[in-house]
Amino acid sequence: MANADIGLIGLAVMGQNLVLNIADHGYNVAVYNRTTAKMTDFIERAQKEEPSRDRLIGCEKLEDFVKAIKRPRKIIILVQAGKPTDAVIDGLVPLLEKGDIIVDGGNALWTDTIRREKDLKAKGLYFIGSGVSGGEVGARFGPSMMPGGDPEAWQHLEPIWKAVSAKVDPESGKPYEDYQPGKPITEGEPCTAHIGANGAGHYVKMVHNGIEYIDMQLICEAYQLMKTLLGLDAGEMSEVFGSWNEGDLDSFLIEITTDILQQRDPADPSKFLVDAVLDTAGQKGTGKWTSTNALDMGIPANAIAEAVFARCLSALKEERVGASKVLQGPAPEYKDDKKELIDAIRDALYCSKICAYAQGFQLMREAQKEYDWKLDFGHIAKIWRGGCIIRARFLQKITDAYARDPKLVNLMLDPYFKDALHNAQANWRKVVAIAATNGVSAPAFMSALAYYDGYRSDRLPANLLQAQRDYFGAHTFERVDQPRGKFFHVDWPDKA
Ligand code: NAP
Repeated sequence: MANADIGLIGLAVMGQNLVLNIADHGYNVAVYNRTTAKMTDFIERAQKEEPSRDRLIGCEKLEDFVKAIKRPRKIIILVQAGKPTDAVIDGLVPLLEKGDIIVDGGNALWTDTIRREKDLKAKGLYFIGSGVSGGEVGARFGPSMMPGGDPEAWQHLEPIWKAVSAKVDPESGKPYEDYQPGKPITEGEPCTAHIGANGAGHYVKMVHNGIEYIDMQLICEAYQLMKTLLGLDAGEMSEVFGSWNEGDLDSFLIEITTDILQQRDPADPSKFLVDAVLDTAGQKGTGKWTSTNALDMGIPANAIAEAVFARCLSALKEERVGASKVLQGPAPEYKDDKKELIDAIRDALYCSKICAYAQGFQLMREAQKEYDWKLDFGHIAKIWRGGCIIRARFLQKITDAYARDPKLVNLMLDPYFKDALHNAQANWRKVVAIAATNGVSAPAFMSALAYYDGYRSDRLPANLLQAQRDYFGAHTFERVDQPRGKFFHVDWPDKA
């Protein structure tokens, strides 16, 4: 008998936690996993530990799983993105009936989602690509969820998505985090909303991840500057980040950085654990997708791309160690007021963060033109306020900015952000200059500043660049004293 309100395939970290979250909200969930042992282990553990154990229906066979779900079936896939997702869809399709809804909660490439949605629509099935952010804890107690797809299918999914997503206090804009198994949070504004058609949800999730890369990199550069120039130890820096978390920079990433920096090394408690962690960062590809797409669309998301390259550079550990013995630079030295530099670094971080978000929102603005989506940028910022990795007080400011002007061309032009940049930029410039003169690598701070100065320039040196192009390739140029769209060419060097 079909008892399940929804089904989920893929019982790894995300799948297991999302299932328990959904069940905690009173829904019966059928579960299936390619490797059956993972499913039986999960059900066994849940039977012992979970208050919502009676709402889980473990299925060994895909046929039984499909039969267990009420129609129209809603089936979430949470497996590795790419070919595994296609394999699961291919297995499911012959078992489904018209009007059933497949929901991909993995980190799919948005173009794959567009393709899948089109293919499945032709077969009478709905497909929703829903970004799910927040990692393990988010999935368990309330992620930020970014669904894209047919609005009719969304209506069926909406009550469940709104129930299980993170909740934000509408007054303070802060997420409720007082959760525990079996006692889900039901009040507040849910961190989910229909993002748009086909791949819109996965696109927005990808940009979210790109922003996550730069948010993390900026924090790391602040850490490196304080460590190198001021000689602060991890514990002292934890206090600095903790104090920043009381102000405009209040965010999940600053909060976890505060925790990380005060963590002692279990192998030697006289030391901080962060100092024992190898300085090579991994990546799974969504930052790269964001940057590649920025290049494809011609949108200058240089700070986001810089954050990806910073991880690439970190991965060249052996080369860097070799180069450190060969290539010279200045010995870092800072003799002025410590507190002043700490405040300046905080300001540099805030200004760079504004630029990074401006770039992310520029990307989404361009993508909506490209794919004919209608994105509500204020709402997107709103659903990132809770559940996800980039959750921050700052996001309410973005929502406010788009409420003031839904057609805002660039976030930096909003009065609040413009004033913030104006007030803090002297410190931002100071930090970038100090980093450069002392040989401290701070690529995200620097490229964000280059973006700011480039964006506010009414004349860039591209006149010379275009002239060079015309010189060697007859690529033509426009003239400042002629209407746009009228092209000229001279035979350089023009002897006339
Ligand atoms: P994962 O390691 O990405 O995927 C493991 C799951 O995929 C297992 O259930 C595995 O089944 C299944 N799988 C792999 N290949 C398959 C195939 N060909 N056919 C059927 N099933 C297959 O798990 P995850 O970390 O929980 O992530 C799930 C999805 O959420 C991914 O798309 C990920 O990018 C996304 N995501 C993850 C996080 C996170 O913090 N981990 C956050 C946001 C989004 P078997 O057990 O049989 O191998």
